[in-house]
Amino acid sequence: MNLDDMKSNNPGQTTDGEKVKCLIIGSGPAGYTAAIYAARANLAPVMYEGLQPGGQLTTTTEVENFPGYPKGITGPELMEDLKAQAIRFGTDVRWGIATKVDFSGPVHKVWIDESKLMEAEVVIIATGATAKYLGLEDEKKYAGGGVSACATCDGFFYRGKDVAVVGGGDTAAEEAIYLAGLVNKVYLIVRRNELRASKVMQDRVFRTKNIEVLWEHQTKGLIGDGVVEGAVLWNKKGTPEEKEVTIRIDGFFLAIGHQPNSDFVKEYLETDEVGYIKTIPGSSKTNIEGVFACGDVQDSIYRQAVTAAGSGCMAAIDAERYLSEKHG
Ligand code: NAP
Repeated sequence: MNLDDMKSNNPGQTTDGEKVKCLIIGSGPAGYTAAIYAARANLAPVMYEGLQPGGQLTTTTEVENFPGYPKGITGPELMEDLKAQAIRFGTDVRWGIATKVDFSGPVHKVWIDESKLMEAEVVIIATGATAKYLGLEDEKKYAGGGVSACATCDGFFYRGKDVAVVGGGDTAAEEAIYLAGLVNKVYLIVRRNELRASKVMQDRVFRTKNIEVLWEHQTKGLIGDGVVEGAVLWNKKGTPEEKEVTIRIDGFFLAIGHQPNSDFVKEYLETDEVGYIKTIPGSSKTNIEGVFACGDVQDSIYRQAVTAAGSGCMAAIDAERYLSEKHG
């Protein structure tokens, strides 16, 4: 389908692209750091903030592990600071979501909100990942009041308390072990009667004395006056032995996986089986020249604000070098 066909199929879509040197998609720590470096390298970056301006950190409370903030800083404040720094050097920050790309030609095309066409010499993808939730109303009700999808970010606030982690994969095992070092007790809520986690992680879970695995349990809901004080679980749901169990907890951690936000580029960019964009090791380069990826959309291992920021810096430097080589 050519652009004219697409335009007639989608009347809102324009074929007259706005031409920019550097387009950054996504506004978490990776996107903003890429913007700061790209702007200072005279790449005149245009950034589209995406679905969740500021990214995942805007949903956390205190951030105490980002270097440079000895007293800590809230996630939203940190993101406001990064945004102000990016704007200070001339980044054009815009509201909009990249919905479609065409990376088949020398100029990279990105459609914003399914209508506006941007044509960029280099594209930096920093769209992050989204933690999966169970889909319970109570997860929204207690957001910021005991429900979290990041043990490294929020575990510290539950020192000495009892918490639950939901999931049976490597992430859940890792988060449960991390939390066990801080809290009094960790319930690991596993929906089947076995863990999906690697053998080595399973062994660590079983060796950790203050982790209790609740096999064949699923979460029905959360209870508490304003903040989480407990969880109501089903044991052996859907079987004749089904029963309800209530546990007393202060924190409820989701660890049922992350979904990298890469669907809109999958037609052109190589991803792994989960959807993480593949980059050439030691760089932010993707399989398409002039398209770079940074932050959680390409990182299944570290997923920290500071590593995202570091990879954003790499992407801007890679982009700048690519353009210098191209233009001589
Ligand atoms: P995962 O392997 O897909 O595991 C997700 C877990 O959540 C599974 O146990 C799954 O249960 C459970 N789950 C999913 N939906 C659920 C629901 N609605 N209710 C209850 N439980 C639910 O995801 P992950 O643990 O995030 O790992 C993702 C990838 O990253 C894996 O390849 C993993 O090996 C890798 N990783 C590696 C490390 C490491 O090497 N240190 C650390 C973290 C992640 P079922 O098992 O019943 O499906």
